[in-house]
Amino acid sequence: MEKEDLTRYIKSEAIRLGFDICGIAKAEAVAEETAQRYNNWIGKGSHATMQYLERNCDKRFDPTLLVEGCKSIISVAMNYAPKQPIDGFADYAQGKDYHKIVKERLYRLLQSINDICPVQGRAFCDSAPVLERYWAVKAGIGYIGRNRQLIIPGKGSAFFLGELLVDIELCHDTPLSRDFCGSCRKCIESCPGGALSDNGLDANKCLSYLTIEHRGELPENIGKKMGNCFYGCDRCRTVCPHNRFSTPNTIPELQPSDTLRQMTMEKWQVLTKPEYKALFRHSAVERCGYEQLMRNINALEKEDKTE
Ligand code: SF4
Ligand code: SF4
Repeated sequence: MEKEDLTRYIKSEAIRLGFDICGIAKAEAVAEETAQRYNNWIGKGSHATMQYLERNCDKRFDPTLLVEGCKSIISVAMNYAPKQPIDGFADYAQGKDYHKIVKERLYRLLQSINDICPVQGRAFCDSAPVLERYWAVKAGIGYIGRNRQLIIPGKGSAFFLGELLVDIELCHDTPLSRDFCGSCRKCIESCPGGALSDNGLDANKCLSYLTIEHRGELPENIGKKMGNCFYGCDRCRTVCPHNRFSTPNTIPELQPSDTLRQMTMEKWQVLTKPEYKALFRHSAVERCGYEQLMRNINALEKEDKTE
């Protein structure tokens, strides 16, 4: 099959498998200025305690070292915008663990390619040293906004990103040629933690980081900044005008259970460990752990009591 036909086939298969958009980039070392910017960000400690971000930078900056012989990066995005937000709870976590959902569909895509052309490849979704947004930009899918999210023009930024690194030559897409933020600064101005600036994201101040990734005690007086956000924070996404184009996802595994949908702040406050386990079986929230989730909920409670 000609390279052009194979590329078209892969993109149509990606859509058939439930991805909203698919682009392709040449697998090669990232631009020097990208590596430099990343190293500066790490050097300033803006990654907080996420030490895994310091490791494997050789592979992070060159995907051909991560997957030997890879020639093309197939970059995909899957919509996670919910039908209804759940008060205080991150939209992305309403359904089953997205890492597995995206990777499983990427491996089905690999199988589809193998049906017509021999190919070796590996799939990733937030699971390896891959600069996901960089490759999505290179693959022409979107651009990185001031909120540091990948924004897909006409679709918004509520998307899981995934990559299939394959050992075949394909037609490569061209990055978008303009910045879609313009003079807007809504995300920076709305960030409750002051984590966003023109220099990027400081995870130390980000509520998503603090409520999901951060172990140990929360910073003092965080309750006020948290508002009702006890697991994640969606403010820099929901205020972004590009998300007015967002439509609810239709992936069955990403829908919340009836129990989760019916949770209220009163119910969260008295959640037991067995209830937590039942509620979040096969969910990304399992990694957070019951104690940490209750730590967050108690931080809200403390704030309520002092008001
Ligand atoms: S997730 Fe919340 S705290 Fe973090 S940068 Fe966005 S608005 Fe700020
Ligand atoms: S809120 Fe405005 S500045 Fe922030 S990412 Fe969206 S368009 Fe860009």
